[in-house]
Amino acid sequence: MSLPASLTVDLGALARNFHTLQGLIGVPVNPVVKADGYGLGAGAVARRLMAEGARTFFVARATEGVLLRDAIGPEPVIYVLDGCHGSSAAMIKATNLRPVLNQPAQIAAWTAAGGGACGLQLDTGMNRLGFRVEDAPEPFAGLELVMTHLACADEPAHPLNRIQRDAYAAAVTRYPGVTRSFANSGGCFLGPGFAFDVARPGICLFGGGPEGKPDDRIAPVATLNAQIMQVRDVPAGETVGYSQGYRAEAPIRVATCGTGYADGVMRANSPRGQVWVEGELRPIIGRVSMDVLAVDVTGLDVAAGDTVEIFGANRLVDDAATAAGTISYEMLTSITPRVPRLYVG
Ligand SMILES: *Cc1c(COP(=O)(O)O)cnc(C)c1O
Repeated sequence: MSLPASLTVDLGALARNFHTLQGLIGVPVNPVVKADGYGLGAGAVARRLMAEGARTFFVARATEGVLLRDAIGPEPVIYVLDGCHGSSAAMIKATNLRPVLNQPAQIAAWTAAGGGACGLQLDTGMNRLGFRVEDAPEPFAGLELVMTHLACADEPAHPLNRIQRDAYAAAVTRYPGVTRSFANSGGCFLGPGFAFDVARPGICLFGGGPEGKPDDRIAPVATLNAQIMQVRDVPAGETVGYSQGYRAEAPIRVATCGTGYADGVMRANSPRGQVWVEGELRPIIGRVSMDVLAVDVTGLDVAAGDTVEIFGANRLVDDAATAAGTISYEMLTSITPRVPRLYVG
């Protein structure tokens, strides 16, 4: 079958990144597979990571946890970063998930649902979720994990990294015997002083660099390919696409490729986006439309049925994201269900 667009996921590269991160930080990696495994398919990536030794996973939403439980069976531990609410606590308990409790009302909701194994988030400076350290609760039954989250891990020299680390180290002394989880992807590159007991990376498992730019220690995992649907010669002076978004100053060849913003290839790719085709980076021209985009392939030997790479091993997702004015996280999680996921490796 010919696919206009497809997302190929290299599970071997995923496995290599898992071991690379574990080697760097020196403690077990508990993968974060929220947002359907950063768009790559949470069940498939989690099953491969289990085969590599992962035993504990993090998702954001209770609903993601329920789906993941279904996909990977009863054994692995699954933490829900959002915690629980009156309406979700019973479902979390019934599917043997563990909420990460972020505020007193969540402790109350979990207790009311019968309690049991759970985590706790401390806020050490990000001011997003979790208890401020001065408001941290007394240890309580069922508490298995205490975590915090770095605000600036993508900037290794940022002073807030150490401030958060020291605040966390002091706060967790209150919870002897509880598993401590500190580092996200960027944190895994900050050195052994940032390890604690388990790390919680996401993006670097899936091929994004820890600093929002490519890092040669991280292997590309996801490749978004689009097929050339039609190639045409456009005379000088004519325009391409909606709103005459591009004007040909000279005669050009244009390849119309089978992916657009309904696949998650953002409209913000106009006018700076590029794709990899026939061994070169070529510009996306005109407006990205819902189902197709146009590429200047002047001088290239391409025909309908050939493939262009939106991101992947040749056009790294961090570079593709930068050109679209965003970050790898958003690029990956924007790929819509219309795009089939193909697993290799
Ligand atoms: C998303 C998230 C992570 C993973 O972050 P990456 O930067 O993708 O490694 C870890 N912890 C929390 C609380 C998160 O929200």
